[in-house]
This record gives sequence, structure tokens and C-alpha cells, in this order.
Amino acid sequence: MLNISNSYKKLPAPVKDILKYGYSRLPLRLRLGKKFYRELKFLQQSQWWSREEMQAYQNLELTKLITHAVKNVPYYRDLFRRLKLTPDDIQCVDDLQKLPILTKDIIRENVDRLRADGYTDDQVITCSTSGSTGKPLKFYYDKDKDYLNFDPYIWRFFNWGGHKIGKLGAKLADWTLPGEAVHAYNPVRDLLILSAYHLQEDKAEDYALALAQYQVEYIDTYPSALVLLTKFLKAKNFAPPCQFKAVFSHSEMLHNWQRQLIEEYWGCKCYDWYGMEERAILGIECEQHQGLHLCSDFAITEFVPHKETKGDKIIATSLTNYAMPFIRYDTGDVGVLKNQACSCNRPFPLFELHGGRRKNFAVGKDGANIPIANIDIPNATDNVIQFQFVQKNKGELDLHIIRKNDFDDRDIKKINDKLCEKFGQNMDINIEFTSQIQKTGNGKTALFVQKLKPESNVEIA
Ligand SMILES: [Zn+2]
Repeated sequence: MLNISNSYKKLPAPVKDILKYGYSRLPLRLRLGKKFYRELKFLQQSQWWSREEMQAYQNLELTKLITHAVKNVPYYRDLFRRLKLTPDDIQCVDDLQKLPILTKDIIRENVDRLRADGYTDDQVITCSTSGSTGKPLKFYYDKDKDYLNFDPYIWRFFNWGGHKIGKLGAKLADWTLPGEAVHAYNPVRDLLILSAYHLQEDKAEDYALALAQYQVEYIDTYPSALVLLTKFLKAKNFAPPCQFKAVFSHSEMLHNWQRQLIEEYWGCKCYDWYGMEERAILGIECEQHQGLHLCSDFAITEFVPHKETKGDKIIATSLTNYAMPFIRYDTGDVGVLKNQACSCNRPFPLFELHGGRRKNFAVGKDGANIPIANIDIPNATDNVIQFQFVQKNKGELDLHIIRKNDFDDRDIKKINDKLCEKFGQNMDINIEFTSQIQKTGNGKTALFVQKLKPESNVEIA
């Protein structure tokens, strides 16, 4: 396998394209393999278990994971020895509290001691993320669970939106495509790739043409990227170029006004989901749209109260990554577990994410941390194409706006009134007009960029 994959990497691009095309002609069942379909079938059943059955499954999977970690992972071997614990001491989810939280700093310092013995370079995927702190985090993932990026847990979720495996989809994301291309087709993954880097008004037609040509069933996207494309298409009076069954939205907070705009234009429902590169947790919205469900057969999730945050810290134990077990991993995100059950009757509890990442709080003049997730500038005026808040000083926000030609002083007044409702006198706003909104390192557009040092931003109100 090592030789095949190394030889493939060295091939010239046109030869790779021919091989990819040939491979894509194989039936999907053959490409993904029996194991993938077995897992998917299992997940289609487990989603209808009772809460008690799901709990029993979590406890069973947890004991397997702990036994593996203590036996094969040097970091956990030493940790259990130091704490005078054996795998028998961790029999159920509640027992996890006997173990310390796994922080990102611990992972950075122990990256190779956290990798399980016997996992060769060829059996792991080496991943890295910049996370919310900007400090890179390297980690390994079990290649055996990857299936050409077809994650069975994600496919079960896509199925909730009516999408069937084997039908074409689109992904609008941070792809770098050759030249000025806005799209490419990946036959191996049955995926139309749309680059979020070129979303400009004069390119909107190119995106529409690609979607019309491929007639994809769904799109998986950052909400800000699809909102921008939708606005451009609406401004040109274009009808939706294809009929999506669902829009799957991830990686950024999906604001209500974004959901409304997308659903109205594309004529389908939005399904929000929350995951992370580390694959330690998965939050997914079902067809009842009553909030995010915790995918409990994927990970054990704890909500741990913390004095610095109003919501709880989200701590996750992944049940699927044996190459590098994440046990009680501090995801860096904050949220609360909700008490109500969803009318879909699945055994997955509902939870609420507080502003996505913790950096989504602006600091007022009085030091209060104000969640910035629900500021509806687009409901104040139609003359804003895109906007972004940036905070460099306490009590001050820069609001960067790409404006339409019709934008005038009345729009400024409407925006200021809206912001005054939210912040009162606690924040000074500086409106700046721009032609380009700053993207983060991985091409995402954040509605809010927090540049204050963390120590000025610890107490989240
Ligand atoms: Zn539900």
C-alpha cells in the first residue's frame, strides 16, 4: 500500500487524472467497500435506539477505547500509572471524571506519545488545524475510518436532508483551483467543487452555470459563502440554477437571517452542522430543525461548567479514533445541553453552541463580553453586500462594509440605530467602507474578528 500511494503521488497530473477517472467508473459499492456500507447500515439503525440503549453502547465503546489506550498509547499508559488507575476503573461515562482534561497544549507537547503503538505512517492521516488560537495543532487520525473522505456519520446526516449516497453534491469551500477557475469536478467523490475564494459579483454567473450543468442534489458550504453567492444571483434576477434537496451549513455560526435568505431563494431547508478537524465531536440538525443533536454514537460529550464562561466547556471523547485517542478533549468551544427532547425521537440530546468559538464575544467599555452572533445588519438595510466586525480596542468595534451603489447616509443611520439597540453606550462603532472582506487563513469569512489579547477577553457574560 505504501508503495502504491507513494508511486501515485509522483505521477504527472494528467496521468493522475486518467487514473482518477478510471477509478471513478468503478461502482460506488466497490470504491467505498463493504465496511463502509456495514457502518452506514449500523448507524441507520442506532439512530432509532432508546436513550438507554445508546448509553449502554457508549459505555461499551468507552471501555474498549480505554483498554486500547492504556495498552497501546504511551501517554495514557503513563497517565494511568501516575493516577494509580487501571482500565477497570473506567466502566461508564461518569467514570471519565477520574481523568484529567486533555488540553491542546498537552497534545502539542505529547503528539507522538499520544499516537498508538503499531500505527505506521501509512495507517494514519496526519492532520493539523490552526483552531481559534492561531497556534497550529498537529494530530493523527485512523486512516481505516476515512473511506476517501466519505464519513459514514456525515452520510447518515446528509440522508436526513434527503440526499442519497451516489448522487452528485457540491461543496463551496476554501479550495484552491488552478488559474482563475471557480469550479472543478471530482469524479472519485461525485462532487462539484466550488471555490469560495473567487466569490465576486462578476463571477456569479460562472457559479450558476456550473450548478446548472451538474444539477447537484445538495450543497455543503460555509453560510457566509452561500449567502454572498445568493445575493449576487438575486441581484442579477437569476432563478436558482438547480434544485437542491438540502443546504448543509457548517464551520461558521448560521444566523437566522442567513438561513431565511438561503431557504427562500433555493427553496429547500438548511441543515446546520458542527464538527471539527479533530473529529472529536459532531453536532447535527435533523429534519425537525429544533437545534443541534449530539451524535452520541460518534463521541461522548461532557458539558463542564467553567468560571470564565457563561456556557459550559464542551469536552469530547471520540469513540472512533484509535490511532490517537482523544479522551476528555477540551474542544475550546462553549455551549449548553438542552433539557428538551426533539420530536424526531432520536436518542441524541440537543445542545446549543454559544456563538461557535469563544472568540465570538466583543468586549464593551465596561469590560462585559457581549455575544455578537445575532446582530442583524442585513435586516436593518438591504444596501450592504457584506460586512465584518473587527475589534482592536476594548469598547470599540470597526464595522467593515461592502456597500451597494444606493448606500447613503440613511443606511448609516439605520445601522447605527440597530447597533445602539444591541450595545447602548457600551461600544463605539467606526464604520469603514471596503471592497474586500478579510478572510481567515483557511479561506473562511468570519463575521467577527477578535484582535484583543485573550487576557482582556476572559470573562464571558
Ligand atoms: Zn431531531
